[in-house]
Amino acid sequence: MDHQTTKIYEELKTKIRGVLPESLLPDFELQAKASLVKEIRELKKQKNAVILGHNYMEPVLFYTVPDFRGDSLALSKRAAETNADIIVFCGVGFMAETAKILNPTKKVLIPSQKAGCSLAEGIKAEDVRWLKKQFPGLPVVTYINTYADVKAETDVVCTSGNAVKVVEWACKEFGTKSVIFLPDKYMAENIANETNRKIYFPNKNNLTDTPNYKNVPTIIGWNARCYVHEQYTVDHVKDLRSSFPGVEILAHPECPPDVVKVSDFSGSTSNMVEYVEKHGLNKKIALLTECSMADNILANHPEVNNNLIRMCNLRCKYMNTITLEQTRDALLHEQYEVNVSEDIRKRALLSVTRMLQIG
Ligand code: SF4
Repeated sequence: MDHQTTKIYEELKTKIRGVLPESLLPDFELQAKASLVKEIRELKKQKNAVILGHNYMEPVLFYTVPDFRGDSLALSKRAAETNADIIVFCGVGFMAETAKILNPTKKVLIPSQKAGCSLAEGIKAEDVRWLKKQFPGLPVVTYINTYADVKAETDVVCTSGNAVKVVEWACKEFGTKSVIFLPDKYMAENIANETNRKIYFPNKNNLTDTPNYKNVPTIIGWNARCYVHEQYTVDHVKDLRSSFPGVEILAHPECPPDVVKVSDFSGSTSNMVEYVEKHGLNKKIALLTECSMADNILANHPEVNNNLIRMCNLRCKYMNTITLEQTRDALLHEQYEVNVSEDIRKRALLSVTRMLQIG
């Protein structure tokens, strides 16, 4: 290894060995990763590129090549501000599309074409048009985990960190008590619980039980789910509480509502990081979310090692397709370029910009 690669390798060892011991990541593999990191950093400079890394990236990638790290909201803000010529999105497809919506003149790349999302794939633009016809006058609030053509049919986008705030904003702005909230079934139910609204899931084949949504505050939802978070159950929470008395349980709002109800806190991945930073020295904490999250927090905060309980068996297969090798290839061959048609982009931009303004 040359001097620079050795330096990266040493830094990596210090950063991630507490999370990924040699039994999980042998030393020769870590050395190979250090060499890839060096290559990626050089390519970034040569091509005036910026790399955005989502919180669900695996720790070695997460702590080495991204210029900015965070959740969808934080990364959308970064994407809106960058001066780079190329944006490489180490995340999933809808995130890269959002970066393109915000940066039409820049080249946006996603390192893997397989980086999909079960939520984004759970709804189509024609479904939104159908819903708008069934519930005229209601604003459409759409979770950021959707593709650009769905965002284009939407009044305002939200993330897990600001969903309640955006729903309240939409009701005020459009003068309604109710909203259409898409596409996450569980997040819609969790918001309905938090804001004291009724929940209703329309069925394309049967609309006979349509609620009195004009007078009764209601969330009109859809039936898409995150295949990772839907796997958490109340039994997981019970097991955690009996194995670790006093544990605080943090559930992502994509978890089923019965799980959120028996948890102590529900919030976005960024909210979880803040929570662990604030309380991790004094309390045992378990995170009900994608498993790289806890690895990444722990790599950055080894002092909470005895308190952070990692349930590391729920890895998102879509996030997992993004590797250092593919990130290197993305920069080297400028692949895979993300494009959004101008008509869709302009309409989607309005709903994304509203989200950024609401904050
Ligand atoms: S964790 Fe769930 S919501 Fe996130 S990308 Fe994977 S499938 Fe989509």
